[in-house]
Amino acid sequence: MAFLIDCPNCGRRPRTEYTWGGEEPGIAEPGRDAQDAWYGRAWLRRNASGRQRECWFHAGGCCRWVAVERDTRTNEVHVLD
Ligand SMILES: [Zn+2]
Repeated sequence: MAFLIDCPNCGRRPRTEYTWGGEEPGIAEPGRDAQDAWYGRAWLRRNASGRQRECWFHAGGCCRWVAVERDTRTNEVHVLD
């Protein structure tokens, strides 16, 4: 599944240069302790059909995080400001 992500520092690069950092914001249930909140953020995913906010780490480039909105049906990516 190849697609491109626009890095604000490096320009348009293939997804293979990035590491997926998860959905943003992660799922955290109110009233639960911090450990449970982090578990939810790391492991519980909405896996929504459509546009969702995600974080990607540009490991093959500038080594910075990029916040995007990706359509999970088409992999169309929009960089967030
Ligand atoms: Zn970059």
